[in-house]
This record gives sequence, C-alpha cells and structure tokens, in this order.
Amino acid sequence: MQRTDDDHLDRELARDFPLGMAAIPASAAQRRTAIGVVIVLGAIAAAIAPFADIPLPKIDAFVPVLQTVLAVADLMTALLLFAQYPVLQQRALLAAASAYLCSASFAFLQTLSFPGSYAPAGLMGDGFNTPAWFFVLWHATFPLGIIAYTLLKDGGQPAIQPGRSSATTIGLTVLCVSGAVAVLAWFVTTRAEMLPAFYAGSFIRQTNLGNQVNVALLLWYATALVVLLARARTILDIWLLVILIAWMPNFLVAALASSVRFSLGWYAARGFALVASFILLSILLTEMIVLYSRLANAFSLLRRERANRLMSIDAATGAIAHEIRGPLGAIALNANTALAQLRSKPPALQELAAIMKDIESDAMRANDVLSGVRALFKARTANPTPATVQQIALHALALSAPDLLRSQVSVTTDFADDQVPVHTDPVQLQQVLLNLIRNALEAMASIPPDARRLMLSTKVTNDSTVLLSIHDTGGGIPDEERNRIFDAFFTTKRSGMGLGLAISRAIVESHGGTLRLADSGPQGSIFELALQRAD
Ligand code: ADP
Repeated sequence: MQRTDDDHLDRELARDFPLGMAAIPASAAQRRTAIGVVIVLGAIAAAIAPFADIPLPKIDAFVPVLQTVLAVADLMTALLLFAQYPVLQQRALLAAASAYLCSASFAFLQTLSFPGSYAPAGLMGDGFNTPAWFFVLWHATFPLGIIAYTLLKDGGQPAIQPGRSSATTIGLTVLCVSGAVAVLAWFVTTRAEMLPAFYAGSFIRQTNLGNQVNVALLLWYATALVVLLARARTILDIWLLVILIAWMPNFLVAALASSVRFSLGWYAARGFALVASFILLSILLTEMIVLYSRLANAFSLLRRERANRLMSIDAATGAIAHEIRGPLGAIALNANTALAQLRSKPPALQELAAIMKDIESDAMRANDVLSGVRALFKARTANPTPATVQQIALHALALSAPDLLRSQVSVTTDFADDQVPVHTDPVQLQQVLLNLIRNALEAMASIPPDARRLMLSTKVTNDSTVLLSIHDTGGGIPDEERNRIFDAFFTTKRSGMGLGLAISRAIVESHGGTLRLADSGPQGSIFELALQRAD
C-alpha cells in the first residue's frame, strides 16, 4: 500500500486551487522571473561596485527609517508564513517563519542600539560593538532558519499531531524564538565588553575583525544558498534563493570593497537589504490576493451550481406532475362515473366494463410516464466506461479543493497499488463522491479545525471487488438514524434536501455496486463503496 499526498493530487489541487507557495512546484516561468531578478540585482551591484568607497554625507535618519521598515516587513512575512502552517502542516514553514522573526527582531534591536539613530549613542548597548553584534546575530540566525527549513521541507507527510493544535505549535515556536532572541540581546547589550570588538575608537571605521566576520557571514549565506539550491523545488524555495543572493552585496561591501560606514557602497548595500526583505512579503501578499479571488470565484460558481440543481429538480418534478396529472384525472373521473352507473337502477353493467377498461388503460399510461422518466435519467447517465476508482477519487478531491481549503480539512489518500478499472460512469461516480465528501465536510464543521481529517482509501478484495472508503472525523451518526440516512428526504440539516445519499445509492446500485455506512461513532463515519472491477 502506498500512503500518499502524491504528486498527482498535488498537481490537480495546485492547478485548480493553489494551496500555498510552500507546496507548489515552481513553474519554468517563475524560475525565469527569479533568475531575471537576480540578474538585475547583480547588474546594479556591478555598476555601483567601482564607486563603493566614495564617502557620502552621514544621514542619521537613514538607518532608523530603513531598518524599522525592514523589521516591519520581516515581521509581516513571518506572520504570513506562520499563517500558512495550519493549512499545509509543514514544520519547515515554522523554521522559515522563525528565520524572519529573528531577522525582524535583530534588525529592530540593531536600530535601537545604532549610534545616532534613535539617540546619539543608541538607546541600548555601548554604541560601538552592540549594534555590530546585533548585525552578526541577525545574519547568523537568518541562514540558520533557512537551512532548517530546507532540511525539514521534504521530510515526508504533513505532520498532524493529535492533541496539539496548530495555534499551540505556532505559539510555542514564537515563544522559543523570542526567548532565544531575548537572551542573546541581553548578552550583547550588557556584556559587549566581553566580546571581540568591531569598532575601536571610531564607530565609522571597522577593525580587521569586522572584515573577517563579514567574509564569514558571506560564506554562511553561500552555504545556505548551496544547501537550498540542491533541494529547490517549490515557489517558496526559489524566492528564498533570490533573497539569500540579494543579501550578499551587504557582506561583500563590508568585507571587500569598503570598510567605511556611510559610503556609497554602504548605502547601496542597505538598499539591497530592503529589497531582499520585501521580496517574499510582496510574493506572499500577491498569493493571498490570487487565492482570495479564486475563492470568491469558486464560491459564486458553487452558488450558481446549487441554484441550477434546484432548478432542474424543480423542472423535473414539474414535468412528472404534469404528465401524471392527465391519467390520474381521467381515472378519478371514470371511477366517479362507474360509481354513478353502479348506483343507477338497474346498474348499467355493460357500460361499467368499458369504464373499467378506460381506468386500466389510464393506469397503464401513468405507469408508462414513470417508466419513461426513469428511462430518461438512465439513458442520460448510464454511460459506463472503464476508469480507475483512484482517478475518479482524485478528480473529486480536486473539485472539492476550495471547500476543503475553506473548511480547513486535511486530506490523506491511501490507494491500493493495484489500480484496477471499474465499470462505471465516471461522471456519475464523481457525483457520488462529491456528495459523500460534502456530507463529510458538513459533519466536521462542528469539530476544531485541527481535528478535521478526511481519508480516502481503496482496497481490492479477492473476489474482484474494489472498495473505496471515505472516512471523516466528524461527530458520527446516532444509532437511531443509521437505518434512515439512505431514505429519500431524510435529513438532519436545516437546508438539507435529504436526497444526496438516496440518489448516490441508486447510482451505485445501477452500476451493480453497493454503498453502505461501514462504521460510525463519535470519532467519525466511514462510508464504503463497493464496485466490480471491469476486467
Ligand atoms: P442531506 O445532506 O441533504 O441532509 P443526505 O442524504 O446526503 O442529505 O444525508 C442524509 C443525512 O445523513 C444527513 O442529513 C446527515 O444527518 C447524515 N449524514 C450523511 N453523511 C454523514 C456523515 N459523513 N457524517 C454524519 N452524518 C451524515
């Protein structure tokens, strides 16, 4: 057996409804855009490089304004990455979000301690080495988070941890990261004299150590870049690569070209840092807007589809009533006349036989109308072609993706390796599955989002039957209702019609299969569909 959120499902879901950039493979166009951004940044850096040493006036507001903006952008990026965790359940996202949280915190702390920004000697620390050490911490922790993200990202299935909600996991992560930042910040603020010095005497010119540390940070970023490059697959990976590259001029300038603050190179490198910080934020925001518009579209489509369905049911019942009303009216009239004949003295038995004949033929006509309607539905729908249950199930899941996403339900599939075709009409079976999935989603609406799981599995039995189970973690079906759920017009929902399961069972039985409730309890329900294999 193969447990999957397999590539096929990924592709189907991603095409119809992008679930998040951490899960979607980057397309060739996205890769080309990323390479284009790197080339533009490289060209700008190369153009500035020869003039990097030119000293420029010291603008006190530059660092506080730029780095405060940068810290806010990083904080928002961290928030958006954390927000993707409950949907995608990837621990790697926590690592990436933590990297941004560290970046935001250290950038802001460096600004507070930077001489001449919020106060002449900085608001905290010694005004010389504290801001430099904040810079080191900032750029030591960011690639660390990215490396952790890289190593965690392909680590198997989404982790659903029973008993721990996503909010708790995110809360714990934020707590741990903030704790670590606080301890490190306390150390470089109050114990700066114990650390090697970056600036001696003047806060404008670096010591040699400053240059060496910048070389080390450059190598550290390069390491993260290489590790990520080897495993880059998703859209998020590609843009993190661009961000790592965009940060590099910062260290190049400090290490090689210029060791002087407030030079052209120094200003330009900070500009690059700001661009780097905004790259992911803008992409996450764009993704949110795209997702929102698709959700709105899907929702209006769903409404239209519901309205159409109701209209067609209304039209069908109207047509049946119209056809039946004729023979039924004739039967009633004939019965009345027959009664009158019987009461007459003497009873007109001769005419009675003719009236009874009419009644019989009207009854036959009503029967023909009903058979005709049934035949109409059968002819329209029974179009059996071999298809595998897995294909049909994946397609139904892809069609339900907007609902699944909105309802925060995580989906797992467990399909038999043996992919046998079944003799069925794929469109009809899909309708059955859509109905079962919708029922499952509605049943899970009342439980916490973290516990909402839908599992689809297939099994092939020895007697050539393919079993498809739809397992939800909803509240289950009470004992006294289990026998009635397949009855037409039985519903426990305020806006339900009670036709879904009745029609689904009729469809499956018309293909020689069965649909039953295999199990139900407080932990959820399992519906089981059995179909004969086509070959
Ligand atoms: P409707 O969804 O319009 O109510 P259905 O025939 O599809 O009609 O379902 C009939 C009833 O069966 C539902 O109202 C609900 O009470 C129950 N039911 C169906 N599927 C589930 C499920 N997965 N979990 C709990 N109850 C269910």
